[in-house]
Amino acid sequence: MNEHLKKLLLESLKDQKEIFGDLLFDKLEVETVPVKPQKISLNEKEPAKPKLEIIEQKNDIVIPPEFSSCSTLEELNSKICNCVKCELGKTRNKFVFGAGNPNSEVMLIGEAPGADEDKQGIPFVGKAGQLLTDILKAINFERDDLYIANILKCRPPNNRTPVPAEMDICIPYLWKQIELINPKVILCLGLTAATGLLKLKLSLTKMRGNIYELNGIKTMVTYHPAALLRNPNWKRGCWEDVQQFRKLYDELTEKN
Ligand code: SF4
Repeated sequence: MNEHLKKLLLESLKDQKEIFGDLLFDKLEVETVPVKPQKISLNEKEPAKPKLEIIEQKNDIVIPPEFSSCSTLEELNSKICNCVKCELGKTRNKFVFGAGNPNSEVMLIGEAPGADEDKQGIPFVGKAGQLLTDILKAINFERDDLYIANILKCRPPNNRTPVPAEMDICIPYLWKQIELINPKVILCLGLTAATGLLKLKLSLTKMRGNIYELNGIKTMVTYHPAALLRNPNWKRGCWEDVQQFRKLYDELTEKN
C-alpha cells in the first residue's frame, strides 16, 4: 500500500473512531458472525440525528478528600501540576491545566493536549483551537469568557486516544475544576470527552442532540474540532449542535 493511500485510510479510520469509539470494534465483531454479512463503508453516512431530550446522567462524581483544601483553581493547579500518577507525566513537555474565566457559566471539555498544547501549556491552540474560537464566535461566545479544559492534563504520545486507566486516574482533577467553576452548561468536544465525563458507552451520533444532567449541570456533546478539520462534512452537524447549546445557555441564563 502506498504512503498516500495509507494516510487516507488512517484518517478515515480515525474519523470512524471519533464517531463510534470502541463500538466500532463491537460493530466489526458483529460483522464477523456469518449470518448476514454487512459491509462497513469508511464513508458511512450518519444516521438521522435524534431529537433533543433531557437525560439525567447518574454519574457519581467523587472528589478526592485531598482536594478539599483547594478553594481556587490556582490552588488546585499548584497541587497537581507536577503529577506523575500515570506514564504520561513522564513524557509530557507541559502540564495543561485548563484556561479561561474561572467564574464562567460555560465549560468546554476536550480529550487531551496535542502537540501544540503540550508545547504551550494551553488547551486548544493550533489549527483545531483556531477553529474552536471561530465556532464560539459564531454563537456569540468569546473564548476568554468561557473555561476550557481536557479530560487528561498531559499529552498522550503521538496524540493517541487516552486509555481508560489514564482517564480514571486523571478525571478527579477535572471534577474538582468543575466543582470550583460551577458552570451552568458543559459542552463535550468529541467522543472521548463525552464518554469520559458521562460514563456512557454510546456512539457520538447517539449522544449528540441530547441534554444530559450531570450532577445538575446540563451537558451536551458535539464533534472535536480536530475531527472537523479532517472531515469538513461534519461541520454542518456541529453547527446544529452548537446552536442548540447556545439556545440552552440562553434559556438557563435568561434574566426575568
Ligand atoms: S495525565 Fe493526569 S494522571 Fe497522568 S500524569 Fe498527567 S496529570 Fe497525572
